Amino acid sequence: MNEENTNTQENATTPEDLPTFEEFGLKREIMQSIRYAGFKMPSPIQSQAIPIIMEGRDVVGQAHTGTGKTAAFGLPVINNMTLNDGVEVLVITPTRELANQVSDELFKYGKKLGVRTVTVYGGSSYGRQIGLIERGAQIVVATPGRLMDILSRDMLPNFTPSTVILDEADEMLDMGFLDDINEIFTYLPQERQTLLFSATMPQPIKELAKRILVDPAFISITKGEATNQDIAQQYYVIDENERDDAIIRLLDAEETSKVIVFCRTKREVDRLSNVLSAVGYNAKGLHGDMEQRQRESVIRGIKDNAIDVLVATDVAARGIHIDDVSHVFNFHIPFDPESYVHRIGRTGRAGQKGKAITLVTPIEFKELQRIKSKVGTTMEHAYIPSKRDVKASQMNKMIADIEGQTVYDEAHTVLDALNEDYDQAQIAYKLISLLMDRTSVKGPNTIGIAPQRLEKILQSLERNNRGGGNRGGGRNRRHSSGGNRRHNSSSNRNRNRSHRD
Ligand code: ADP
Ligand code: MG
Repeated sequence: MNEENTNTQENATTPEDLPTFEEFGLKREIMQSIRYAGFKMPSPIQSQAIPIIMEGRDVVGQAHTGTGKTAAFGLPVINNMTLNDGVEVLVITPTRELANQVSDELFKYGKKLGVRTVTVYGGSSYGRQIGLIERGAQIVVATPGRLMDILSRDMLPNFTPSTVILDEADEMLDMGFLDDINEIFTYLPQERQTLLFSATMPQPIKELAKRILVDPAFISITKGEATNQDIAQQYYVIDENERDDAIIRLLDAEETSKVIVFCRTKREVDRLSNVLSAVGYNAKGLHGDMEQRQRESVIRGIKDNAIDVLVATDVAARGIHIDDVSHVFNFHIPFDPESYVHRIGRTGRAGQKGKAITLVTPIEFKELQRIKSKVGTTMEHAYIPSKRDVKASQMNKMIADIEGQTVYDEAHTVLDALNEDYDQAQIAYKLISLLMDRTSVKGPNTIGIAPQRLEKILQSLERNNRGGGNRGGGRNRRHSSGGNRRHNSSSNRNRNRSHRD
């Protein structure tokens, strides 16, 4: 059925004109890897980018996180490789974690063709990395800093990749790598195919694309929506001192698998991961001040299901692909709309459903509106369930769990022992109470701003907005100069940024 010559006919009889991987004419070995990876159908960015990249054209590709951009460039680029001597492909990624992730993925696609891949990043030995490249790597996946070091010190005299890919370009911008990137390109051959992939397209990235790409095809799969439709987005309005209670209650109430909680500072990451661990969650922090080995072990932990709740800063967690993240929490509202898009893109990946939950205080409401309008997304307001509500739903779940529980042989032994002193009903009550202890709902009965008060706050915000040019007048201004709230001036923003990872 997968024979190429029957393919056209197949398509003609298919009611919907669904895209297939067969139609690209990729090499047989690559088609095998695609099947092996379990990909049934190309994603929209893949459908559009693969044929154009195969033609050898420069491409700027924009699509939400989790939509398969790696394969969108990886498959056609590997397909086009001549596999003669020397490095043919250079992929530049913002972080070590991403470099490893992309390299693993490219290795999978090129395995059957015998493609050799090397990663190059700071923190491990130059000699080893250069040795591996010189011993016949065909793909190099690198972070900007180390790559620039290597090129500027002329440590790789015959480095002439014919295809260069900038992956997650917006993140490189955010991490301050733009100058490095510009310099790297002075060491690369003029004659090359250049591809740039990004989830968002801030102005400096558009300008970079103009400088380093030649007559590129622009592919954008964002349909005016910067966020993935599979992600349900909610926000809860709380008082500043309720953040911890709110997050714990929501973790108790939601049906979660893996969860990422985003914080704005490293200190907040440390504090919150300790708080969550203390109340019994299997939580770990991830931020840029941690040692590389520690970070890798946390990332492995969450990937392998050994950790349920990852508490992280933006930069530390960006772009890392973790399967089955059911929820993303914004413990604080992010600094800018792009971060919001990136954060929530950690869930709802590869066509799965996800939920993104943001905690805001009334003072942050303006910020929320700004993100909403800039991102063009729908966020639903919701109230945090009360302790009573959560208990009720947990009880229903407990009933279902007990009904569905299989009985082990050892259970008889324990029951026989108990039967000597208690009757069956007593034993059952004790057992159920034991289960209840394990799912105890923590915190006060109600959390968050009550409907009536919220209504008043919203009305007064509305009045302030109508007040015309009087931005941040009235209560907002008082608040914003009082606390350590965010400010809008760019210098302050930059200061905040440099603190967050
Ligand atoms: P992005 O770079 O757009 O954020 P990735 O390239 O990291 O996304 O891909 C996200 C996940 O989707 C990866 O686990 C990848 O293996 C998977 N994936 C990619 N393409 C497909 C496809 N066509 N079908 C199913 N899964 C896919
Ligand atoms: Mg990616």
